[in-house]
Amino acid sequence: MPFAVNLLVTHHPLFFRPVKRIEIQTPLGAIVAQAVRHRLAVYTLHTNLDAAADGLNDLLARRLGLQRRRPLVQQRVVADGRRHGMGRIGGAPAYQESVRSSREVKQRLGAEAVRMAGDPELRVKRVALSTGSGGSLVAEFLRTEADVFISGDLRYHEVRDIEYARRGAIDVGHFHSEHLMTTAITHRLRRAFCRRHPGSGWRPFRMKKIRSRCCDDAAGAPEAKAASGEIIRGTAKDGAHGE
Ligand SMILES: [Zn+2]
Repeated sequence: MPFAVNLLVTHHPLFFRPVKRIEIQTPLGAIVAQAVRHRLAVYTLHTNLDAAADGLNDLLARRLGLQRRRPLVQQRVVADGRRHGMGRIGGAPAYQESVRSSREVKQRLGAEAVRMAGDPELRVKRVALSTGSGGSLVAEFLRTEADVFISGDLRYHEVRDIEYARRGAIDVGHFHSEHLMTTAITHRLRRAFCRRHPGSGWRPFRMKKIRSRCCDDAAGAPEAKAASGEIIRGTAKDGAHGE
């Protein structure tokens, strides 16, 4: 535990399924034990951030340039008219003329590669997307008029369904569909922190790239690649002002 922090904000939760016991000999248990030992709280955003207006799906849609976007599965409209829900659908960005022209998707996400399925020449007018593993939204995508579905972790049969429907799929990988939350949440926390503690400020982040093994087995590909992660540290320091 190299940093003296007491709150760790993450996207993915430690527990995906309910646990009945924690064994500290297991990798997961060791992490929990370490957090307890260092009195470190772990706050996980995950689906709440995915679905929120201005959440992760909106961040991804904005990064890729979707126009007039709305949730693919709308959950509710809040008082200011913003819409919450999973996935996003919108007009295709100018660069996405066809399934084949996905190079810019790759570049905008900083991915080493993306995988495409469907007719490469398929004209793309509308795009649907989902952060993370978007397989559960494929049926919803097929009910819309969108031509291509962008997500991470699409499985073989989900992609086949998309091909059968004469649409396209672009799998950007789970990591690259979500990692942009790090910078966005950091900025938001910094703003909120400095609003609440105007005299103290937020010391400039120290960002350190770490290498982590990321096993992406989407569509059954035996792909194990190194992905970069980030450690971001923000501490209050007298006299220093953030945004
Ligand atoms: Zn995820």
